[in-house]
Amino acid sequence: MTDKVKKTDAEWRAQLSPMEYNVARKKGTEQAFAGEYWDNHEKGVYRCVCCGTELFSSETKFDSGTGWPSYWAPIKAENVASETDNSWFMSRTEALCAVCDAHLGHVFEDGPAPTGQRYCINSASLKFEKNKD
Ligand code: FE
Repeated sequence: MTDKVKKTDAEWRAQLSPMEYNVARKKGTEQAFAGEYWDNHEKGVYRCVCCGTELFSSETKFDSGTGWPSYWAPIKAENVASETDNSWFMSRTEALCAVCDAHLGHVFEDGPAPTGQRYCINSASLKFEKNKD
């Protein structure tokens, strides 16, 4: 496993925009259809906005209709951690960056084949890197 990235709250605040900080470090949620990537169809890699770890590929991105970027699998299983989230009177599975514990979004079991999973992710937790042609 890779080493964990740990920073103080002040360091994260200094590094991130207020929106990125609120979502990735404080488990916030961006508005649907308002983020940068829900409608991005370019080929490339989505990295963690906090630590740069590769999280998702355009190869597994699909149009979920939710207004958040959605993927049926992470790039590597070990790069995305999950935890039970019982906030808001619901039991959901939270998706986190395995390296820096950034909040990414949630995982649902109603995704497309081949996994049947839907990683519903906030654009604010991601940084897209377009493939070089
Ligand atoms: Fe990270």
